[in-house]
Order: sequence, then C-alpha cells, then structure tokens
Amino acid sequence: MGPIIFAIAEHFEGKIRPITYELVACAQELQQHHSAKLMVIIIGDDIETMALEIAQTTGTDVLALHIPGLNSYNGEVYSSVLEQLIAQTPFTYMFIAHTTQGMDFAPVLAVKTDSACITGIEGIIFGNNRLSFTRTVFNGKAVAKMSSSTDTTVLTIQPGMFTVQDFNPDESGGIEIRSLASNTRLTHSMGLVRSRTDNQTITEADVIISAGRGLGKKENLDLIYQLADLFSKSAVGASRPLCDMGWLGYQQQVGITGLTVSPNLYFACGISGAIQHLTGIRGAGFIVAVNTDPNAAIFNMSDVCIVEDLTSFLPVFIEEFKNALS
Ligand SMILES: Cc1cc2nc3c(=O)[nH]c(=O)nc-3n(C[C@H](O)[C@H](O)[C@H](O)COP(=O)(O)OP(=O)(O)OC[C@H]3O[C@@H](n4cnc5c(N)ncnc54)[C@H](O)[C@@H]3O)c2cc1C
Repeated sequence: MGPIIFAIAEHFEGKIRPITYELVACAQELQQHHSAKLMVIIIGDDIETMALEIAQTTGTDVLALHIPGLNSYNGEVYSSVLEQLIAQTPFTYMFIAHTTQGMDFAPVLAVKTDSACITGIEGIIFGNNRLSFTRTVFNGKAVAKMSSSTDTTVLTIQPGMFTVQDFNPDESGGIEIRSLASNTRLTHSMGLVRSRTDNQTITEADVIISAGRGLGKKENLDLIYQLADLFSKSAVGASRPLCDMGWLGYQQQVGITGLTVSPNLYFACGISGAIQHLTGIRGAGFIVAVNTDPNAAIFNMSDVCIVEDLTSFLPVFIEEFKNALS
C-alpha cells in the first residue's frame, strides 16, 4: 500500500462535528502536493451511520473503528486504538482537529509513533519542494511557518481556517468496519453536565458588547452592561479568560470553544484578538475594538480601531451616546 493520510473524525452525541469536513478539505489541499491516499477514521460505538455520511458527503474511504461501549470521547482509548492501527497501516500525515479533544490525544499519539507534532495549523505552503504549515502566534501578532523533518507528522487543524466547498464526489467512498477491544481504560468518562443557562442570547443579538481580560477588574463589567443597554436587541459577550475566571458565563463566550456569532455590530473591549476568538466573529457585520495596544491583532479585523484605555474611553462614550439619543 502507498502512503496514507489519515483524518480523524470528531463527533458528539451521534452527530459529526463540522471540523471533520474541514480536516478533509485541508487534507485534500495537502494531497495537491503530496501524493497519498486519504482515509477518514471514525472511532466509537455507534458510528456506522456517521461513517456512511462522511463517505457519501466527501467520497473519501472511511475506516470505522468500532469500540464496544465507547459512547463518549476517551483520549486514552483514541490514542491506544490509533497506535494499534498505525502499527499495521503506516501514515505520512495525520489530521486531527485543534479542539479540546484533538489537543488531548494528538501529542500523545505523536510521542507514541515518534512523529513530529505541529499544532493549530491555519495554512499549508508548498515551496522549495517542501511542505510547511502556518499558524499564528503571540495572540495573532505574528505568523510562524513550520515544517517537519520526520517521515510521519501529526497535525492539528485550527477550526474555521479551511473552507469546506461542496465535495460533490462522483461516488461514495467505501466503508470498512473493524471491531477493536480497548483494555487500557485507566480513565473513564463520567458523562457531561450541561450548562442550565440559555445560550441563545448572544447568537441572536444584533449588537454584542464583548469584554476581554483588558477589563482589569470585575466591577468594570458595569461599563460593558451600560453600553449594551444603549442598544436594542443587544447582549454582553466575552473572551474565554473572563468565563474561566467566572466573571461571565460560558454561554457568553465567543470563539471556537464558545459560540460563533454574527451580529450587525460587535464591540470588543480589551480583547487582544487571538485566533480562537476571531474565528467566532467572522460573521460580524461591523467590528469596533477598544484596546490600549495599537498593535493588537483585533485591529486587523476591525472597522473602527480605538487605541484607548477602556476605563477612560467607555464612560465618556456612554455619556456622549446618551446625549446624542436624548
Ligand atoms: C483550544 C483553545 C480554545 C480557545 N477558545 C477560545 C474561545 O473560544 N474564545 C476566546 O476568546 N478565547 C479562546 N481561547 C483563548 C485564546 O487563545 C486567548 O487566550 C484569549 O482569547 C485571550 O483573551 P483576551 O483577549 O480577553 O485576553 P488577552 O489576550 O490577555 O488580551 C487582553 C487585551 O486587553 C488589552 N488591554 C489591557 N488593558 C486594557 C485597557 N485598560 N483598556 C483597553 N484594552 C486593554 C491588552 O492590550 C490586550 O490586547 C482558546 C485557547 C485555546 C488554546
């Protein structure tokens, strides 16, 4: 068998996550410069229907690794069954989502298979007869170009960076189902506890006022709510650190591990513009950002850039706005 590229499907509660198709799109881009067969791997218990969907949608062959009893993700099982598979079917590149799941098992797999591991990829470059991969670093202020010097490479792909066109395959890919036992259960998934709060608000708002770590202290949230109150159909959003600190709820988090939003106006206060945040606001109509750092990455995507301390700018702006409305 010739060289193989694997893409590891991500799924949750019986549904394929969209990143799976982005992995296929990204792998197909790589195939233009690296002649190899692409195969999607899906792992879990009840996976046949999803395997069929991937094969029909993309035209790519799918290998379904059926693990009885594996109803939710377990990184230990993923890395051990993939290690078994690779021992029989060597790969050149393995594509994994740069998500909480992917980041959990990709490095383990790279170590187990003595592969290079390049994470958070946003682009592929081919030059001087060599493939390299790009990712943003320093919160989006610089782009790093990386290539591997090993025969096998594990890559994690940043969600939202590879556009999924209609695959329109001439015919469905094939499906192979292999049953594997996994005895290496040092860890057990205890289930998920869902947040009780309604998370529709920021996805439905016309205007989102979002706060980031630049807010400095929790009391300054008052300024964010005051500004939001000036608009109808508005909501308060947040970058991840604010949710991690418990200042705002996760149902308000914008970004790849939060929500994707598309308001008419997105007002970012004290947010640096990390790629994980920007991915969630690509659909925003008009972006205003307030930041003390003139080189903040958020400004690259903003229609209006305000280089100011938000604690002095927002009170004045709110006051002037109220005056203009009255
Ligand atoms: C797998 C993964 C998933 C992630 N998912 C998400 C996600 O979904 N959403 C998300 O947001 N992040 C996510 N992150 C985190 C992300 O990488 C960044 O760390 C985060 O977005 C940074 O948040 P921030 O911009 O609020 O903070 P910082 O990066 O610390 O930026 C604070 C900004 O405030 C500015 N500032 C400071 N003081 C002031 C002031 N007084 N007035 C005005 N500006 C000021 C600073 O110049 C700076 O630009 C994820 C990370 C990983 C690894």
